[in-house]
Amino acid sequence: MNSPFSWDIVSLMIVAIVFFATIFKHMTEGQENRSFLAFQVSVFFMAVFDLVSEILNRNPVDEPWWLPAAYITTYLFFIIRHLVNVIYLLYIISIAGIRFKLYRTVHRVLILMPYVTIVMMILSNLFSGEMFTITFEEGYKRGDGILYIYLFGWIYSAIGLYYLVRIRHYIDLHKWIILILMYVMALAVMAWQGLHEGLLVEMLAYALALLLNHLLVLRPEEILDVNVDMYSWRYYREHLRHCEIAGHPLKIVVIRYFNTPEVRSIFGEKNYNSYMRDLAKRIRGFLKNKKEVYTLFYGPVGCVCIAFDDMAYDEGPLMRFLLDKFEELRKDELCLASIMQFKYAVVRFLVDIRHAESMMGFTVRFPSFIPLQQECIEQKDFESNSSFKLRNHINSIINRALNDNNFEMYYQPIYDLRSDTFATAEALIRLNDPKYGFVPPALFIREAENCGLIKPIGDFVLESVHEFLSSIRQEDLGVRYVEINLSVHQCTHIGLADYITGLGKKYEVPPEMVNLEITESVNAVNPEAFMENMGRLVEMGYSFALDDYGTGFSNVARLLKMPLKIVKIDKSVIDTIGDERSMSVVENTVRMMHGIGLEVVCEGVETKEQVMKLKNIGCDYIQGYFYSKPLPRDEYVRFLKKHKEAKSD
Ligand code: C2E
Ligand code: CA
Ligand code: CA
Repeated sequence: MNSPFSWDIVSLMIVAIVFFATIFKHMTEGQENRSFLAFQVSVFFMAVFDLVSEILNRNPVDEPWWLPAAYITTYLFFIIRHLVNVIYLLYIISIAGIRFKLYRTVHRVLILMPYVTIVMMILSNLFSGEMFTITFEEGYKRGDGILYIYLFGWIYSAIGLYYLVRIRHYIDLHKWIILILMYVMALAVMAWQGLHEGLLVEMLAYALALLLNHLLVLRPEEILDVNVDMYSWRYYREHLRHCEIAGHPLKIVVIRYFNTPEVRSIFGEKNYNSYMRDLAKRIRGFLKNKKEVYTLFYGPVGCVCIAFDDMAYDEGPLMRFLLDKFEELRKDELCLASIMQFKYAVVRFLVDIRHAESMMGFTVRFPSFIPLQQECIEQKDFESNSSFKLRNHINSIINRALNDNNFEMYYQPIYDLRSDTFATAEALIRLNDPKYGFVPPALFIREAENCGLIKPIGDFVLESVHEFLSSIRQEDLGVRYVEINLSVHQCTHIGLADYITGLGKKYEVPPEMVNLEITESVNAVNPEAFMENMGRLVEMGYSFALDDYGTGFSNVARLLKMPLKIVKIDKSVIDTIGDERSMSVVENTVRMMHGIGLEVVCEGVETKEQVMKLKNIGCDYIQGYFYSKPLPRDEYVRFLKKHKEAKSD
């Protein structure tokens, strides 16, 4: 490294490599990537002009072109050198998710003003020569004026630092450090520059900053789903979070393929991925020459989301284009594209749906919110549908309920056909919000699971049922046990067994009085943790019931592995027993369950005929509105007393 230009050449090479890697990995879409690309390009030109001007300034040639060439390249270097600062600031603003602020002309002007001043100061050197001079005899000579320009340039660094401090809590620490590092390096380089004339190390500092940013801030493996050539699910969440915190609304078109598991198993992963890649290409093709800023995300369950920065974007033409294409593909003979089924939604993020986590949940599940024949969800649906409104505010409703104790436990009596008593009950949670009224548990339990609030709710349920059981005299009321629903997250929580046994001791409730309801979906999440919890609890004397039997892919082998006591046949199955063939399925199910030593509860029984039929086929317990709706605890106790008295009369 003898030549004074070696570092410049190395820097240029680093910049070029990063540039190729960026293009090669398709990291060119979306705000952050675009501003990073702009940053690369500006650093590249800065390095080029630095190198050329250095060469010229250090090797005076006695030719008429030399002086103008040296001056021009040096001016260009300074002008680009300060532009780099502006672009780096824009990059940080993009990372902070507040790029939209620059849509206002005032803000654009404010951001550009210091730069315009700097450029004018640089150009004033043409007349004053206060910044630098270049002469044949002495080459490049720095003047005092240059210092003022650098100081002025620090306005951008100051704004950048201000934003970095503000976004500190919502980006990873290592990314944050690297973003800050750029300024630390700039300071170090300035100090170096004060001591040594010549800007050679500066270029290397910039190149290294670029490399670090490329490797560690915009990590493609984190944000890009290479199988389908779209941004990843993880990045979708990050993007939404940024926009939520920054208050930046988006218009998001979600295409949700709801039969992906079947399609993938029939046609294979490779064909499925190539279909998705093709779709991405088509969307990009359509949006290519339009000025909209958008990002294309993919969720592994079959969600394609196009997030537009501009809320006013009219998605009509795009959707018509895609729907026509889909229609065309469907006409083909049997192929993957012809059997893909989807619904789509157009969401104004922060207006229709306010929180990133709710948006994530919505993206996956919205097809189940609408009737089968409805193809899409649009603005008018959000405005007219109260359950969407509830979903929108569900986070604040749950938080309020936890703070103000708006939860209450209800008990639905379960009828024991053999002993002709209401020997058991299911505990069901109720949420009465002061603003929105009754919020169905089916809605908030799922949402609470998504936003990490299920633990305190689950703890409340367990504690309040234990408290209730300790307050009643079970011999008087004839209650053998109460069934408590466990959410998937609770089931796989390591502390569950200890927590429940602790409550049993605290409230002196024997384990036999508690039956825990689980669903098959626990196996999909973390079967090991769950089996461990279950094993320990069964050992202590607690029993388990499998809920909602007949709704999932009921797997008998798995059923046999679990130490269950009860199986609950879901209402949707019971609803069909009017039909003879269904009835025969239920009959055989009951026989099979008895065969493997399980008791059977039929849920959602509403009529006398249903009761008679289920009694005839040997079902053990009946739960449903026919006997009683879920009741508040006092009413439940009265209900039990009344029935006990009626029986003894
Ligand atoms: P699930 O565990 O299947 O509870 C049975 C649901 O069926 C209850 O709805 C109950 O009110 C309803 N039901 C019972 N009999 C009839 C009937 O004859 N006709 C009709 N139409 N419905 C009947 P609910 O209380 O709205 O609860 C819905 C779901 O929310 C529950 O389904 C359960 O998955 C969840 N959930 C409720 N409470 C809790 C809880 O404390 N913890 C957890 N983790 N989940 C809960
Ligand atoms: Ca249940
Ligand atoms: Ca159930």
